This record gives sequence, structure tokens and C-alpha cells, in this order.
Amino acid sequence: MKEIKALCRPNIWRLAAYSCARTEFSGRSATVFLDANENPYNKPFNRYPDPLQQELKQLLAAVKGVPAENIFLGNGSDEAIDLPYRIFCEPGIDNVVAIAPTYGMYEVCADVNNVEYRPVLLDADYRITADKLLGACDAHTKLMWICSPNNPTGNLIDREAIEKVLQMFQGIVIIDEAYSDFANARPFRHELASHPNLIVLNTMSKAWGCAAIRLGMAFASKDIIGLFNKVKYPYNVNALTQRQAIDALKDPFAVDKWVSIIKQERTRVMQAFADLPICKKVYPTEANFFLARVTDAQGIYDYLVDRGIIVRNRTRITLCDDCLRITIGTKSENQELLAALRKL
Ligand SMILES: *Cc1c(COP(=O)(O)O)cnc(C)c1O
Repeated sequence: MKEIKALCRPNIWRLAAYSCARTEFSGRSATVFLDANENPYNKPFNRYPDPLQQELKQLLAAVKGVPAENIFLGNGSDEAIDLPYRIFCEPGIDNVVAIAPTYGMYEVCADVNNVEYRPVLLDADYRITADKLLGACDAHTKLMWICSPNNPTGNLIDREAIEKVLQMFQGIVIIDEAYSDFANARPFRHELASHPNLIVLNTMSKAWGCAAIRLGMAFASKDIIGLFNKVKYPYNVNALTQRQAIDALKDPFAVDKWVSIIKQERTRVMQAFADLPICKKVYPTEANFFLARVTDAQGIYDYLVDRGIIVRNRTRITLCDDCLRITIGTKSENQELLAALRKL
């Protein structure tokens, strides 16, 4: 790979980050805070939150097995998806490569930042080779997006392909592992030490059951985390989110329990779904959802909406015609879905 400095936009490399009151003062104990023009009343909401979320990162480091200095926290994964464009991609000049179909936010952020987005089609089994991905790159390709387990297809992307891309690609490889808690595979966040060009994304929105608090994270080298911290808004993760995430992280056993119930239900629902007359194919999955090809996705989607059951209609996505994406819910929610479909 190239040096991070050579990949980074020159204006970002030179950027002096905004220095907030709470960054300038850190460490020694203090009791009187007259530095940030806060209101002394209305505790605890009167104080600005920790701009670098240190307490939360210490807990995450233990749970995720990644040092705190290799963690960036953002307002959902959304922020961690947008920042690499702003850090590495010169609008109108650079481009990014991504598997297709995949999560829609990578392309939305490319469009917002005026960066060319190059989708590389998966094959009919939703697999891809490193050579196909590398073949789509040129000297201006700064980022490669790999979502694994992939949304909306549900499968893991072949490990050998990802490893070859990590070895051969000159830019930054971003592996979105939003669903890795539901998968039987070693997460790539444990491979950071051997890959200075790797960014791994995780989120509190799925296995951790905290989509409402908006907390996403990126794991990467200290150099890359430093660039994220320079470009982010100073107080990008609010105090309520930090507090709630800290509470959630103190009870990781709840998450283990949810994940194991959801995986058990996943097996059961997929088998029952495959037996429905409307089902043509259920795709294998390592996530908390599965993709299924049905006789008439739009008709079945509308039928379910009329009964108050919402699934995701993916029929207009490349390689997903007549496919529905179905999230695994509680046992009784899953039963409602299956009962409705059996009446069709
Ligand atoms: C759901 C999802 C996320 C989570 O996004 P947040 O902004 O953290 O809620 C990230 N990546 C993928 C692929 C997802 O499906």
C-alpha cells in the first residue's frame, strides 16, 4: 500500500483540528470549570461531553479486544462511512470501489462528496474474487468497500478474497462488519496490526440493540484514527449516547443471549420459509436477516403491509429481483409473519 500521507487529501493532512476547552484541559483533577461558557446550573446536562469518549472507549477496548487508541466513535456508522471520503477522496478526481449489491450508504456518501463510485457485481451466488475487485481500480482509487456479512445478501465475503485485496490494493480497505456478532467467522478487527490500510466498522445498532442511540465505530491504525478525530465534529457523540452505551457494555451477557436466540430463530424461520409455496429460494446467511426469492416480491410485500407486517422489498436492487429481506424478530413476530404467509 501507499503511505497514509500519500493517500490523504493534502488539506486534511495539514489541518489543525478545532481545539475545544475540554481537549485543552485534560487529566489533572479540577472542580471549578469556568472555561467553556457553560451554564453552571442544570446538572449533568450543562457540561459538554468528553470529545474523545475515553471512558466508553476503555470499555469497548475490553469487549472488542482492540486497544482504545485504535477506536473511533461516531454518530452511527453513517459518520464512520462519510469521514473516509472527506479524509481520502478529492472530489471530482478520486474514486472508490465497492461490491454490489451492498449497503446503500457507501454510494450515498460518494454522491454527497462528488466522488466516483464503482460498483463491482457479485456473481449469482453473491461471491466475488479479489481479481475482479482489483481490476476495477486505477491510480485514483482511494477506498474499497467490503460489507461482510453483506447487506442485503446476508453471506460472508470469501476470506481469501479479502486477504488478497488487503495485500494488493494500494488504498484503504473498509470492511463493514455490522453483522459480525451473528456470524461464525473471526472478525477482521483482530487483524489490524498486520494491515495498516484496514478500517473495520462495527455498530451498536444491531446485536447490541441500541439503534436509537446512534453509535457506530471504526477500528484502524493510530494514524487513521488521528485523521478521523481531526475531521469529526468536536462533540460528535452526545452525553446521553455515551452514558447509555456505557451501561449496555457493562452487560455483554445480555447481548450473547439475544444473539443466540436470534441465531436459533434464524434457522427455524428459514426452514419454515423454504417450505412455503411462495418461496423459490432462501439464501444462506450469517446475519440477523435472510434474503429470499419469492414468486412475486411486490405482491407479497403489499399483502404483508396490509396485515401490519413490514419486510424489506429488494426487488429493484441488482441481482435481487423478486427478493425480500427479512429481519429475524422475536419468536411471536416471526410466527405472525409465517402464519400470514401460510394463508397466501
Ligand atoms: C445496519 C447497518 C449499519 C449500521 O448503521 P448505523 O448508522 O450504525 O446504525 C452499518 N452497516 C451496515 C451494512 C448495516 O446494514
